[in-house]
Amino acid sequence: LTILGIESSCDDTAAAILRGTGDDVAILSNVVSSQTDLHAAFGGVVPELAARAHAETLDLVVEEAIAAANCTLHDVDAIAVTAGPGLIGGVLSGVMAAKGLAMGLGKPLIGVNHLAGHALTPRLTDGLAFPYLLLLVSGGHCQFLRVEGPETFTRLGGTIDDAPGEAFDKVARLLGLPQPGGPSVEAAAKMGDASRFKLPRPLLDREGCDLSFSGLKTAVLRLRDTLVAENGGLTEQDRADICASFQATVAHVLAEKSRRALALGDMTAFAVAGGVAANQTLRAALEAVTELPFAAPPLALCTDNAAMIAYAGLLAFERGRVDGMDLVARPRWPLDQTAAPMIGSGK
Ligand code: ATP
Ligand code: FE
Repeated sequence: LTILGIESSCDDTAAAILRGTGDDVAILSNVVSSQTDLHAAFGGVVPELAARAHAETLDLVVEEAIAAANCTLHDVDAIAVTAGPGLIGGVLSGVMAAKGLAMGLGKPLIGVNHLAGHALTPRLTDGLAFPYLLLLVSGGHCQFLRVEGPETFTRLGGTIDDAPGEAFDKVARLLGLPQPGGPSVEAAAKMGDASRFKLPRPLLDREGCDLSFSGLKTAVLRLRDTLVAENGGLTEQDRADICASFQATVAHVLAEKSRRALALGDMTAFAVAGGVAANQTLRAALEAVTELPFAAPPLALCTDNAAMIAYAGLLAFERGRVDGMDLVARPRWPLDQTAAPMIGSGK
């Protein structure tokens, strides 16, 4: 089976072609067109601009994915598209494009939950068996999922406020380091001493696997202001030490909560996904948590992409799920309700 995946739920326009079965699949192409430059001046993604850019870029990206896979549109057996959650204008652009292709080619259409795409990626890259524990840590999400089947997920816990990626970005902004914050904080932390400042470890004393990052962010803000008030500014070393402490704290808290999530039992493996999973200190801390196989997909498949959407679509299709032309775009779509969205179901 050859499947086309389309993703446009945030600020990346993406298309990919996969060929094979759920157990044995090849990524023939995986094209991502990023809008980072478009939104750079605004300090965040502007939904209206994003939707327009998706609408303008989607057919080119699909064409490129087809060409890179060395096939034609007529080789495509099914079309998978992110139907939510995400910025509604972007999701709509993708869903409309996918419907047009499905109708024009007379091929089945499968609406995919974006988070299911992230959650199934470690199975795509490492062939993990169900059920496995997934920690999704990105710019917009932070949750523990027990991935039980192609369309069965149980949320074990997650952040009650910010996502870790947001916290990395905020800390970078507070310290005058470039965006995206994750890589610059990680680079600065390499020169830093993580033991110089003690930062709070939010929710560690509370049972379960929920997380919180907004207090940590505020603690970094206070620390910066205190140092500035005392010394009239921050030295390179101050910055490095703050970054090292911050990063070590995030890694420590995520590792401890992962241990608790794994203790809920019966998992075959532990996997991470999302942009923050690129962080080496974090990866090392998480890997040390368990003797179970540990999977961290390559960065290009950890961040938003359409290969994961095609793969999730392929698994759903193998189970016999197909959507009609009444597929709706959903701004919100909790992962524990993965059934195809009903028309007019709203949120
Ligand atoms: P979502 O996929 O949840 O909608 P998103 O698209 O913003 O959100 P990703 O593209 O998965 O998220 O990841 C981007 C985030 O990952 C940014 O916040 C960035 O700072 C963070 N990040 C990237 N590299 C690193 C790193 N080396 N260390 C820590 N954080 C990182
Ligand atoms: Fe994502």
